[in-house]
Amino acid sequence: ANKPRSNAIIAPNFNFQDLGIGGLDEQFNIIFRRAFASRIMPPSTVEKLGITHVKGILLFGPPGTGKTLIARQIGKMLNAREPKIVNGPEILNKFVGASEENIRNLFKEAETEFKEKGDDSGLHMIIFDELDAVFKQRGSRGDGTGVGDNVVNQLLAKMDGVDQLNNILVIGMTNRKDLIDSALMRPGRFEVQIEISLPDEKGRRQILGIHTAKLRENNTLDKTVNLDELASLTKNFSGAEIGGLVRSAASFAINRTTRIGKKGNVEFDAKKDVVVNRDDFFHALDDVQAAFGVSEEDLE
Ligand code: ATP
Repeated sequence: ANKPRSNAIIAPNFNFQDLGIGGLDEQFNIIFRRAFASRIMPPSTVEKLGITHVKGILLFGPPGTGKTLIARQIGKMLNAREPKIVNGPEILNKFVGASEENIRNLFKEAETEFKEKGDDSGLHMIIFDELDAVFKQRGSRGDGTGVGDNVVNQLLAKMDGVDQLNNILVIGMTNRKDLIDSALMRPGRFEVQIEISLPDEKGRRQILGIHTAKLRENNTLDKTVNLDELASLTKNFSGAEIGGLVRSAASFAINRTTRIGKKGNVEFDAKKDVVVNRDDFFHALDDVQAAFGVSEEDLE
């Protein structure tokens, strides 16, 4: 009965769906424990534990699963500045030396503010999307230029340097963790690595709930629509694809209630709301599966 609290029960009364994020409760709990909790405590409390904040988190997993969503949410909950979002390929600059410069500039503002204000500085967040495009295993590119290697080295140096800065959190994201230079994942760098996987059925149900919230609020979701059924029919869908499904269903509903008249004018009953029904969702399932190349087999 007196089992110590663990990850699973940190937020017993909190619905992560209220933040618009479905199926990632467990991941959120880990992030909370490793990246949040110490940053919310008074600095003196943290000092007494002899620890420093985790400064790098790597979120990895398939596209469209909510990595960006969760990274932005962390920033909001920690009252961070508007995050600097950089895309791996963007950083690589064809002018030698400029890529390293780009990396240094990312950290500059936070460094300056920490020098001036210390622990009173706001939190600066750097979100690195497509990390794998730049931070491949050093020496693995084979282009012989070594430009990419220098960029990796620069980021390593910067991340080691922020050890003394309490005001930076770097969030890296990738679909290909296996490609990333392992030196980046050592303790003190991207120390915490969290897999953001495709949602299971329960997660898909939550995500469907989120993406149909407006429809339900406005009574524009027909009673024939069963979200449990749709959750079971969307195996292997990412959160982004579920969002696409709802948008597609809505487009079928609009189509159903619209006609193009003889003179090429669009006719519809402006007094009536468009209501999305089960058939619309089934058309959308066909539509989205064709677009994303999901095969029948995947859905079994
Ligand atoms: P990428 O690797 O392609 O950058 P990502 O994992 O960062 O993808 P997001 O950009 O966070 O994916 O997701 C895109 C959109 O898909 C979100 O804005 C949201 O509408 C929807 N989405 C994805 N995952 C979820 C989720 N877990 N819950 C609710 N909505 C989601």
